[in-house]
Amino acid sequence: MDALPPRLLTGYREFMQGRYASESNRYRTLAKDGQTPETMVIACCDSRAAPETIFDCGPGELFVVRNVANLVPPYEPDGKHHSTSAALEFAVQSLKVKHIVVLGHGRCGGIKTALDPASAPLSPGDFIGKWMGLVAPAAEAVATNTMMTVTERQTALERISIRYSIANLRSFPCVSILEGKGRLTLHGAWFDISTGELWAMNPATGDFERPEFD
Ligand SMILES: [Zn+2]
Repeated sequence: MDALPPRLLTGYREFMQGRYASESNRYRTLAKDGQTPETMVIACCDSRAAPETIFDCGPGELFVVRNVANLVPPYEPDGKHHSTSAALEFAVQSLKVKHIVVLGHGRCGGIKTALDPASAPLSPGDFIGKWMGLVAPAAEAVATNTMMTVTERQTALERISIRYSIANLRSFPCVSILEGKGRLTLHGAWFDISTGELWAMNPATGDFERPEFD
């Protein structure tokens, strides 16, 4: 039996001969001086929506946390285990990132589950169902809108949940204080897997628009 899946071993060899070889100085500097990424990205676990790929970023550029449906839970200092909140705390308080991007995407399985809460849990723990319960009120409002098509409901909740996560980011005192001082900016974005289109959230209106390039 292979110690690692063969595809990963092949890929690693390519990485060492290609990217690592050409960026070895950068890796060494990052190892010596530590990481200083300016941007944190909160993205979905989905294998088709990797932030480093979409934004063409190299090592040390993005501080990434990924979870099902790229959700930020509200600030809950209750002594329980909060992995996303822990990553957020480190990014803001230690790395002092200047930007936080909540990156959603089309055809999100987590959002699909939220729109169909009657679907059977994948395991007795129903971790996905509990996690997606964060957006239950919005999911219910969207799911019962029969004027919209299935695709429209899906896209709507994907974008609504990005706005919801950004609102939850502001429930963390460390985020709201730094944002108030102008040292931290919050962003929303939505990636269309099928076309490669990126849509950015207008901070004033909450609408998603195609970004303009210089
Ligand atoms: Zn997803």
